[in-house]
Amino acid sequence: MRWLRLLLMMLFLAPGLSLRAQPIAIHRDPRIEEMLRDVSPAEIERHIRTLAGFHTRHSLSTQQDPRRGIGAAARWLEAQMRRYSEASGGRLRVELDTFWVEPDGRRINRRVRLTNILGILPGRDPANKQVILIGAHYDSRASNPMDSISYAPGANDDGSGTAVVLELARIMSRYDYDATIVLVLFAGEEQGLLGSEHLARRAREEGWQIVAMITNDIVGNTEGENGIRDNRRLRVFSEGVPATETAEQAQLRQSIGGENDSPARQLARYIKEVAERYLDQFEIKLIYRRDRFLRGGDHIPFSRQGYAAVRLTEMHEHYDRQHQNVRTENGRSFGDLPEYVDVAYVAQVARVNLAVAANLAWAPAAPQEVEIDVSGLSSDTTLRWKPGSTPPDLAGYYVLLRETTSPVWERKLFVGNTTEVTLQGYSKDNYFFAVQAVDQEGHESLMVWPRLASRRP
Ligand SMILES: [Zn+2]
Repeated sequence: MRWLRLLLMMLFLAPGLSLRAQPIAIHRDPRIEEMLRDVSPAEIERHIRTLAGFHTRHSLSTQQDPRRGIGAAARWLEAQMRRYSEASGGRLRVELDTFWVEPDGRRINRRVRLTNILGILPGRDPANKQVILIGAHYDSRASNPMDSISYAPGANDDGSGTAVVLELARIMSRYDYDATIVLVLFAGEEQGLLGSEHLARRAREEGWQIVAMITNDIVGNTEGENGIRDNRRLRVFSEGVPATETAEQAQLRQSIGGENDSPARQLARYIKEVAERYLDQFEIKLIYRRDRFLRGGDHIPFSRQGYAAVRLTEMHEHYDRQHQNVRTENGRSFGDLPEYVDVAYVAQVARVNLAVAANLAWAPAAPQEVEIDVSGLSSDTTLRWKPGSTPPDLAGYYVLLRETTSPVWERKLFVGNTTEVTLQGYSKDNYFFAVQAVDQEGHESLMVWPRLASRRP
């Protein structure tokens, strides 16, 4: 499929659309392709088997035993991160984010110390303060959420996501990026999202400008319990109305729309576009819902802090293999064992994360204060914005548009290095718009939906 190496997206302009839009070739960045080739299913399998080998990674299990329990698992994960840090000449910075949790009458029955393990790749562009945070949780559980002793291999939930994050640390630490990448192994997810809750609050207090938070949770099973097999699709869950919406913002939304255009939805669309650009025969399935029905994950504390946060999960889950004691009943086997994990699929999920994180971390910062001109009733639409950052290789901006009923952006017009554009014949009543920055290598920022309306100055 030689022709696929260069994806030519020809953008034809509709008659009557007289802006200075040009067709543009969107191609794959050879550095990103090289990183994608380095993703190793063998390495992923080794990690998942090692994680399952700690017997249990329950948050209330032993922290002293050198071979078993959550303490041994955390020390091994830290050692992996330090190994990658050393191999990168110190570019990857390892940080332990340790905190105490008091008994909460729910899933914590004694005072316990938990540790998130962070691998940080600081951005090199001082004007680009954006942070891309990619995580997974390393704790596990058995049938009873308070059982800290039984065998709980947690190979898929969430050994698979943990292996993805380790692969990103190994491969991505070879390069410098404009934005900062933070790779996180979260503690305490099964006891109530404790590690992510702690880090999300800390990020807000310390003013981290997280533009994208992705949690990889349950990303390795390709056989649904209904027997269906699917190793070519991955779900992205994203919330519609932001969790932090104020009454004032709700009023504006009711007046101009936007219930389907939260920052999380834009991030989900970005993941779909970029991942499918780089991976052949692999589809990102957008699920317009915060998480699976009544369930939760480590992205939720981040969305509650006002960050764009989404969850990646395999297409078909197998419930005999989640949150189950390892056992056989009437010939039916239960338990989250390594042999049920499809490591080639986990490698694809790692590539999805890698392509998205690298493309975004090499992109200019997203445009700011994107707004629609409302100085008069018109069937044309004028958009204005301010640059988020202006790196030397900034190429300009894309304007994206779609029908109000379309789940994804339908047109992507390169409008050059400008901060204002008029789309003739495209009424703001009938279309949605967004703007994203792009550099000369084609790395795009996230798309920004105009939340402001302004009159011509
Ligand atoms: Zn999980």
